[in-house]
Amino acid sequence: MDTHRQIRRIGFIGLGIMGRSMAGHVLAAGHELWVYNRSRDKADELIGRGARWCDSPGELAAACDMVITIVGYPSDVEQVYLGDGGLVERAAPGTLLVDMTTSSPSLARRIAQAAQARDCAALDAPVSGGDVGAREARLSIMVGGDEAAFQRALPVLSCMGKNIVRLGGPGNGQHTKMCNQIVIASTIVGVTEGLVYAQRAGLDPTTVLQAIGGGAAAGFQLNVLGPRIVAGDVAPGFFIEHFLKDLGIALGEAAQMGLELPGLTLARSLYEKMAGRGFARDGTQALFKLYQG
Ligand code: NAP
Repeated sequence: MDTHRQIRRIGFIGLGIMGRSMAGHVLAAGHELWVYNRSRDKADELIGRGARWCDSPGELAAACDMVITIVGYPSDVEQVYLGDGGLVERAAPGTLLVDMTTSSPSLARRIAQAAQARDCAALDAPVSGGDVGAREARLSIMVGGDEAAFQRALPVLSCMGKNIVRLGGPGNGQHTKMCNQIVIASTIVGVTEGLVYAQRAGLDPTTVLQAIGGGAAAGFQLNVLGPRIVAGDVAPGFFIEHFLKDLGIALGEAAQMGLELPGLTLARSLYEKMAGRGFARDGTQALFKLYQG
């Protein structure tokens, strides 16, 4: 494999809440950027800033030295990478493929194998830090894959994140992201219940956030999502339907390891109720609605 192929032209697929900001940072760092998204209008702003549009993942792969993707579900990842005329089929030898979607470890391993068979390299590199972290280029990036490919990707990943860690071979980035989601799942339940309790006790929730937000309970869920809960703001930074996707992947992986995770199971059942009531496209902080009866 040509591990020295220089990275000049970068392709970006998936221009949603996360991808739009992340691609913008890559462009702002001075890279040539090619973009593709299921709905074309989401690319308008980037095209206005100099990015070029491609009509398909395959066309984009053929034009680029490195391709970054952050789409929705594992099924989207599979289609974009392994589908007919997809990234793996159309990428030239030496192309570096980096999937930043939260997806399944086993799919990441399949993509890495398929890429290797075409003389390309693939990394799984999911992110944490939310819509705010994407906007401010402060994401944590958890990478699985070959060390040489990681080193090639690092300068570009550094445009989007501050804490970039390689955790071993293909799939381990996704496994690490599952650890992250397992931590978040019980944390958001705790944050929601703490704030519901504050209201019921007649406390001013904003002052409660001030008081506890600098102590041992501090963190993204309390300090960033807590104020959104208090304001009744359910606009999605992170869709409930995507969180449910992640909780399903994590519980599936845990089951394969013979591991029971009751906190995670409880969080999933609460979010399933939310989805059942039509709130799947709200942000995860909307969980407080369940406690309003
Ligand atoms: P999003 O707003 O739905 O963005 C996904 C984008 O990918 C959409 O613009 C979608 O197109 C596009 N897309 C989906 N399938 C595609 C395909 N087959 N071909 C081309 N484009 C496709 O979601 P997001 O919040 O940015 O999240 C993206 C991923 O990152 C998810 O896996 C999520 O779990 C993960 N993540 C999200 C956050 C967060 O806080 N939001 C944080 C960490 C990780 P359309 O415009 O047509 O829908």
